[in-house]
Amino acid sequence: MQKATAHLTDEEFALYTDAIILNSSYRLPSQILYHVMECTRCKKELMDLLTLVEAQESDTRRETHPFFGRTIV
Ligand SMILES: [Zn+2]
Repeated sequence: MQKATAHLTDEEFALYTDAIILNSSYRLPSQILYHVMECTRCKKELMDLLTLVEAQESDTRRETHPFFGRTIV
């Protein structure tokens, strides 16, 4: 009867990624945490999202590109 098959919504995924970035995933509603623990599909989706977000973050950090580092002496 109690099939917890409700996958996370886009909003919940966004919430989850934000929470992880802010190191406050413990503040997430337990049903979201629990679902991701149980559901490989949502877990994978979340990992993909996190990879994406982290890639954007490091992009924003803008380390000196080796190309420019070499050109501007
Ligand atoms: Zn799911």
